[in-house]
Amino acid sequence: MYRLALIELHQETNSFSTVPTELKNFESLALHYDEDVHTGGDKHKLQVDGFRKAIKKIGKGKVEFVPIIAAWSHSGGKITAEVFEHFKSHILSRLEGNNLDGIYFSVHGAMGVEDMHDPEGDLLEEIRAIVGNKMPIGVSCDLHANITAKLVDNATFINAYRTNPHRDHNKIGFKSGEMLIRTVFGEINPVMAFQKMPLLKGGGFNIDFIAPMRKIFKAMKRMERDPRVLSVSNFMVHIWIDAPEVGWSCVVVTDNEPKLANELCNDLCNLNWSVKDYPHPAPITAIKAIEIVKKNRWIRPFGTVIISDLSDLVAAGAPGENTHILKALMAESNKLKAYIPLCDADNVRQLDGANLNSEVRVEVGAKLDKVYNEQLTFKGILLYLDESRYGKTAVIVKDKLYLILTSLPCPAFKPSFFTKLGLSLWKADVVVVKNLFPFRLFFWLYNRKTIYVETKGVTNIDVFQLDYKHIPRPIYPLDKIENWN
Ligand SMILES: [Zn+2]
Repeated sequence: MYRLALIELHQETNSFSTVPTELKNFESLALHYDEDVHTGGDKHKLQVDGFRKAIKKIGKGKVEFVPIIAAWSHSGGKITAEVFEHFKSHILSRLEGNNLDGIYFSVHGAMGVEDMHDPEGDLLEEIRAIVGNKMPIGVSCDLHANITAKLVDNATFINAYRTNPHRDHNKIGFKSGEMLIRTVFGEINPVMAFQKMPLLKGGGFNIDFIAPMRKIFKAMKRMERDPRVLSVSNFMVHIWIDAPEVGWSCVVVTDNEPKLANELCNDLCNLNWSVKDYPHPAPITAIKAIEIVKKNRWIRPFGTVIISDLSDLVAAGAPGENTHILKALMAESNKLKAYIPLCDADNVRQLDGANLNSEVRVEVGAKLDKVYNEQLTFKGILLYLDESRYGKTAVIVKDKLYLILTSLPCPAFKPSFFTKLGLSLWKADVVVVKNLFPFRLFFWLYNRKTIYVETKGVTNIDVFQLDYKHIPRPIYPLDKIENWN
């Protein structure tokens, strides 16, 4: 039997957030050790599941699955050094003396840890030092990964998601498993080409099925039709990670054809560079957005206006407790019917036991992030207090303004979040979401107008406004650069 280990450790870090990521943040999403990975339940059907399928289908009874860890946290601030050390010592202790034939290392690729610049690269280097140079290590990352030289040097191959918004976790787990098994069986000999571009453009708008990235993802598929090509990956880095090797990158893996890998990798970089100037949506202020909503009240029977809070994007690591748009809506609470979510576990806990339909008063904001947020007092009638997908949740209404307090950061990117709370999307003038793109797919039935609003926060999309301290320079668009190479 061939023994293949799984190490899955995912978090996308926002270096600008002051809210640290702790063990409880992994526990609230997925945290399984050793054999517990097998019985992790519904919470964890991502890469692990795809990898398991590959072992069954490609391994043909000759491969044993050795789970070491499967851990996921929501996006957030840097992981504390203590938590990372805990994960690392668990992983390394399982590798010592373990008779393995290969490792699947599944990471996000844009993880940040206190006082570290390349935690995933450093961890892989330590793993490599234990298992030796010959052992195949297959790596898969999110396509928003910041691929580093250390990750490349210590991996046998690297694969990326091919969809944004991401919907192929399972597929990439299977593909990585298949490549690893075929490598262990001696059927293929993966060689990898890697190129970094001095490019820093907002990852969240780079959707695989619309312009400008659509043609690039199609070109990648064409490249993979060549049987010598094992995988082609395009990494459009998460712009909120402040690290010395930040930048877009491409990886091409071939079956023992280094020249071909290099050529295709260069071609892919050229394609990326050719679309670097596509425009982002231009965000406006909360006050201006509300003026537009007021002028568009006629929309209500046909759907609603949606404001995307660009400064508080939960999936990009913001805490979800920004009060700037709430403040602007409070000034119009008797005119506009509005729904707005806000993360505030403290208040939800304190409301426990309060009577429904009674008046309550809450102080919201600046509980997690004290730099960008301002605390506000909100007085209204408690309409709802129960569990939702984002932990215990309360709805408080003042005039026509519905404030939804959640225990966990809430992107509110699906209509069902609101409708399950009894809030009809046919009856709102405006709905606030803390999401950059996927809401546009899910809300198509109700969404008559999208407004992107920028206030103060850790996920602003204008790289000129972000307070980078460690990124390499020159880098486009912060600096003028003609050619990527
Ligand atoms: Zn991503």
